[in-house]
Amino acid sequence: MTVRVEQFNCSPLIQDALFDCGRSAPRSIRVPSSGLSPNAFSMNAPATLSPSSLMLAIESSCDETAAAVVTKDLRILSSVVASQNELHERFGGVVPEIASRAHVQRILPVIDDAIRKAGIQLRDISVIGVVTQPGLVGSLLVGLTAAKTLALVLDKPLVAVNHIEGHIYACRLAAGRDIFPSIGLVVSGGHTNLYHCRSATQFDLIGATIDDAAGEAFDKVASVLGLPYPGGPMIEKVAQTGNSQAFRFPRTFIKEDRLDFSFSGVKTSVLYEANGQPGAHSQPPALTEARIADIAASFQAAVIDVLVTKCRQALRRFDCKTLCVGGGVAANSAFRQALEELARRDRIELHLSPREYCTDNAAMAAVGWELYAEGRLAPLDQDVVPGLVRKSESESAASTT
Ligand code: ADP
Ligand code: MG
Repeated sequence: MTVRVEQFNCSPLIQDALFDCGRSAPRSIRVPSSGLSPNAFSMNAPATLSPSSLMLAIESSCDETAAAVVTKDLRILSSVVASQNELHERFGGVVPEIASRAHVQRILPVIDDAIRKAGIQLRDISVIGVVTQPGLVGSLLVGLTAAKTLALVLDKPLVAVNHIEGHIYACRLAAGRDIFPSIGLVVSGGHTNLYHCRSATQFDLIGATIDDAAGEAFDKVASVLGLPYPGGPMIEKVAQTGNSQAFRFPRTFIKEDRLDFSFSGVKTSVLYEANGQPGAHSQPPALTEARIADIAASFQAAVIDVLVTKCRQALRRFDCKTLCVGGGVAANSAFRQALEELARRDRIELHLSPREYCTDNAAMAAVGWELYAEGRLAPLDQDVVPGLVRKSESESAASTT
C-alpha cells in the first residue's frame, strides 16, 4: 500500500518537513500491506544521542491540545498549549466528543507552533513522546495518531507516556535534579491520586479518590455558585475575600488511616448550603457576593485540609522526606501555601509543579526521556489506555490495614 502524503491535510511546516525528510521517495511511503507482527512497525533508536538531542512531546489526553520540544538534558525549548475551555464552558465540564473534534483541528497547528518556537526543523527531532494514558479515548487517539504518523514518516522512535507520571515529572523538570524516591500527589480535574514514586517511571498507587476528583469538585462547586468554568481559578479568586471559617464543610476520611479521598460529600454540602436542602421548610439566604465568597473560601479550606493531611500521612507511612505535587489544582495559591507550611513544619523537601505546568501540557511528557533511557520504546501499533485511574475496592480495603 502506498500512502500519498499530499492526501493529508498537513499544515505547511509539517508538510515541508515530510517532503524533505531525507527519504528516497519523498512523496510516498511504502507500507507493507500484510503479514505484520505486533512490533513490525517499531522504529529504530537513533545511533547517538547528546544532551541537546530533541524530543517532540505530544499531549491530548483531555481538553488541552499540547506539543513541546524538550532536550535530553531537560531544557524546555517550547511548550504550546491550546486550551478548549471556551468550548466546554457552557456545559460546565468537558464534553468528550467536542474535545476530540477540537484536537483533530488543532493538533497539527500546535505541533507546527512548538517546532517553530523551538527554532528547529521537524527532522532535527530524535524521539517522539506521546501521552497514551489515561484520558478520553477519542482525545488520546488524536495525539497518538499524529505521533505515530510522524514517527513512521521521520523514521524516529516513539515513546508512550503516562499522563499522571507526567504531572509528577513537571516537578522534576523544575527541580533540575533527581527528586525520587518521593511521595507524589496528582490533583487534577480527573484524578486525585497519591503515589509512592520509587523512580521517575515506577509509581505505586497508594491512595485515590473513590468518587469525584478535587478539580472536578472545584468545577462543580463553582457551577453551583454561578461561577464560570473552569471553576478552580474562579473559586480561588472569589475565596480571597471570603471567610474560610464561615462554614464547616466535611473533610472526608481526614481522621482515618486510609490514604483515599472522597469529595462528593463536600460538594453536596455546598449545594445544600447554597440552594437549600430538599424538603427543608426554610429557604437558604440569598447568594450574595459575600456569601458566595464565604462558601468558596470554606470549601477551598476543606479540600486543602484533606489534601495536605493525606500527604502528611503518606510521608509518614512510607518514611519519606520528599513530596512532589502536580496537576491543575496544584496551581492554587492557598494550597501551595499550605504545602509549604507542611514542608517547613515536618522538614520535608517539597517540589511543586511550576504553575504554568500544573494544568495539562506536553512539556511534562518529557518523562519519555526516562522511558527511552530504559529502552522502553513503543511499537507503531501502540494503542491508548483510556479511562481514569482509580483504586479497586480490594486495594482500598488493603490500604486501611
Ligand atoms: P485534567 O488533566 O483532568 O484536565 P488539569 O491538570 O488540566 O486536569 O487541571 C484542570 C483542573 O484543575 C480543573 O478541574 C480546574 O478547575 C483545576 N484548577 C486549575 N486551576 C486551579 C486553581 N487555581 N485552584 C483550584 N483548582 C484549579
Ligand atoms: Mg485539562
